[in-house]
Amino acid sequence: MIVNMSDSATPEQIEHVIHRIREAGFQPHITRGTERTIVAAVGSGGRRHEIEALSVAPGVDTVVAIAQPFKLVSRQTRPEPSIVNVGGVKIGGEEVVVIAGPCSVESREQLLETAHGVKRAGATMLRGGAYKPRTSPYEFQGLGIEALKILGEAREQTGLPVVTEVMSTEDVDVICEYADMLQVGARNMQNFALLRRLATTNKPILIKRGPSAIVKEWLLAAEYLLSGGNNQVVLCERGIKTFETATRNTIDLASIALAKELSHLPVMADPSHGTGKQSLIGAVARAAIAVGADGIIIEVHPCPERALSDGPQSLDLTQFEKVMRGLCAPLRPLAGMKAGQAA
Ligand code: PEP
Ligand code: MN
Repeated sequence: MIVNMSDSATPEQIEHVIHRIREAGFQPHITRGTERTIVAAVGSGGRRHEIEALSVAPGVDTVVAIAQPFKLVSRQTRPEPSIVNVGGVKIGGEEVVVIAGPCSVESREQLLETAHGVKRAGATMLRGGAYKPRTSPYEFQGLGIEALKILGEAREQTGLPVVTEVMSTEDVDVICEYADMLQVGARNMQNFALLRRLATTNKPILIKRGPSAIVKEWLLAAEYLLSGGNNQVVLCERGIKTFETATRNTIDLASIALAKELSHLPVMADPSHGTGKQSLIGAVARAAIAVGADGIIIEVHPCPERALSDGPQSLDLTQFEKVMRGLCAPLRPLAGMKAGQAA
């Protein structure tokens, strides 16, 4: 349930509502917007009728049910978009953020060359896998702590905040020492023990959509993080499984627009995993921005043909620079509409 306070509600009236929500057996979550305060009553087993009755409490405008199963993630709870600050880079604001870097950290030289190169081309965050979720146990599994140290050095040299994947609750503490943001990979989207643990950290989380997850499941996975106390969450669409075989996954651009409609959380797109093909990354990244993505994450390798993971979808530095220039170019003019006519 959501208690919408009136725009003239006093701090005491808001406090009273918070107190009554607790008394009724729910947890209060407060959103102070520019115009009004919203207090969400979440949890199970509370006395719902007591919350409904708050509609006549002083300072209360309306009490409404939250229509969706994800409560804290919902736009109803927070109509204004959330901005997630990752080491000074704001995701979810006016500007589109580009995160770039290799699928895996393979060596100090490889990562540092990539980090400096993507920074020169305009990326404002660095990615690099240290713990890799690989389909086969015989494939490169990542350098672990050694990779984290290299990522830390790259951040020091370039100033780019770093995101890296966490696969296990065991690795959370050490990854928190080195990274600015932790990625929950597609395969771990519903690893509920991991989500509960990450909810207790103070690090921003990038949560990828599982390849077979519907949007509701993706948003409920994010709800685990918010309900556990971490509201610095960014969603990432990275393609889902469909009958198509010409691309590695099918990037679901509509889900980006939908997630933004349903939720206040920032949403990013991953055209690298979403297509699996170098040649499609620029076009799909542009399309993702057109549908409202707050950021793009792209795999870049100094020599993709030598990459230990995801070479076919990795751009080299020259290709990445070209994609970056393309992201700044305007969309094509619309037939029959002169420039400025829509305004
Ligand atoms: C990755 O980012 O390299 C990765 C493994 O992503 P995903 O979880 O989307 O497959
Ligand atoms: Mn990858």
